[in-house]
Amino acid sequence: MTTTTGETRTAGATARPRRKKGEGQWGLGFREPLNANEQQKKDDNPLNVRGRIESIYAVHGFDSIDPADLRGRFRWMGLYTQRRPGIDGGRTATLEPEQLEDKYFMLRVRIDGGALTTQQLRVIGQISVEFARGTADITDRQNIQLHWIRIEDVPEIWRRLDEVGLSTTEACGDCPRVILGSPVAGIAADEIIDPTPAIREIAERYIGDPQFSNLPRKYKTALTGHPLQDVVPEINDIAFVGVHHPEHGPGFDLWVGGGLSTNPMLAQRLGAWVPLTEVAEVWAGVTGVFRDYGYRRLRTRARLKFLVADWGPEKFRQVLETEYLHRTLIDGPAPATPDRPGDHVGVNRQQDGRFFVGFSASAGRVSGETLVKIANVTEAHGSSRLRTTPMQKLLVLDVAEDRVDSLIGEMEVLGLSADPRTWRRSVLACTGIEYCKLAIVETKALATRVADELEKRLGALDSPITVNINGCPNSCARIQVADIGLKGQLVPGPDGEPVEGFQVHLGGGLGLDAGFGRKLRGHKVTAAELPDYVERLARNYLDGRRDGERFPQ
Ligand code: SF4
Repeated sequence: MTTTTGETRTAGATARPRRKKGEGQWGLGFREPLNANEQQKKDDNPLNVRGRIESIYAVHGFDSIDPADLRGRFRWMGLYTQRRPGIDGGRTATLEPEQLEDKYFMLRVRIDGGALTTQQLRVIGQISVEFARGTADITDRQNIQLHWIRIEDVPEIWRRLDEVGLSTTEACGDCPRVILGSPVAGIAADEIIDPTPAIREIAERYIGDPQFSNLPRKYKTALTGHPLQDVVPEINDIAFVGVHHPEHGPGFDLWVGGGLSTNPMLAQRLGAWVPLTEVAEVWAGVTGVFRDYGYRRLRTRARLKFLVADWGPEKFRQVLETEYLHRTLIDGPAPATPDRPGDHVGVNRQQDGRFFVGFSASAGRVSGETLVKIANVTEAHGSSRLRTTPMQKLLVLDVAEDRVDSLIGEMEVLGLSADPRTWRRSVLACTGIEYCKLAIVETKALATRVADELEKRLGALDSPITVNINGCPNSCARIQVADIGLKGQLVPGPDGEPVEGFQVHLGGGLGLDAGFGRKLRGHKVTAAELPDYVERLARNYLDGRRDGERFPQ
């Protein structure tokens, strides 16, 4: 694998001598900010921006916002300026930020563990209707994102979210982002261990804690106790994965250093077993290692995965134990690897005999009005609990057996399907050009078109084929770990002129087939051709497969 600095390196490679000036690791004494982002974080703790938003910017309007807050510290409060409408992807790389951005914001509501009550969902839906032009996307990190937010409305939105125990704090920025949690935590009949108490403890103790609000870069956490490893643990900075220890019972296997984007790496096991009661302490230890030894010189090397790749798991564990935990961790076994990560779409029995039902919305796109209706339908079926999932799905929990069919019927009317055989289940898309300033191509509407067309042409799918669509070379929609991964870029159209299209990656996967898809050189497809292209690939696979054979890796 080649890094952005031109070095060749392999995931898990051992430490090597670094350049004399260091890479900005605080733990080695390199405290001087080595780039503009680090300087901004040093100038003022980004968490302080909330006070300025409430007392200055919301009162005096968009033009009063300090650019260092607008394009830097606002992210710590879940706010990004959104793309100005009408700017095509060809100009993304050439325009200055102020030319690209609109005077409206995307606001990310963090939903740790994906756990929502109907009351919370209704409040998000109402905020969307009143302040966000009805927009709402369920993301692949269990958040809900709203668009078209005016800075003047942010304090009132926060007040309403606070009232129901929701927040946007550290939803973006170089800090601990939303904590992914198994969407079926505490309810699945086949669960190994319920991570809910640990998710709560990490969120309550450490989110918004200044000791972790200036990390080298974003920091992604995932916890699951479900055997289907339903939180994409392989591609998080830190993951706790449920496992049964032969002597100590159920607990978690500790993984570190996963991540996608331009240098994708799978997380590595540290070989340590962590009991539920120690998860938060160990999380804080690993986060401390990242804060102090993570690389801060180049943004492109600042994710934890680069440190883990350089140190290797043995050295990482040794530093964690000796400098941060001051004790040794218990050795533990690896969890069994699932065939595929679970998305829980369909009808499933809970531990208590009731049912949870998983629904797919088209590429996670819903609306504020729909969220309010979902809350009403859920309550009308005797439940007050829902979960978002890392696959852009929505689960309704605690449904009595005789209410399941009625629930499915009413949700179908709202555009959410519980049928696990639909193409809609398999297609995932990032925000794309509609709102994202980095985007080159449109994604959400295209994802819906692809799913609808394939549904018509090929009908029900007995084995899911995942199609993940990104609007740019980043990997918000995890293209490297999809059966068919599509990286947005401009490609030559029929007359040679550049049009919206994709670089194709084939055969990525998680679970048993964890690995990154092959980038097919010169293999590019235009957005207009995409339904035909996916249909061809799917037909080849479906016609040629032998019993139980997966999409080719
Ligand atoms: Fe934006 Fe690119 Fe992420 Fe899509 S993948 S949301 S276009 S940064």
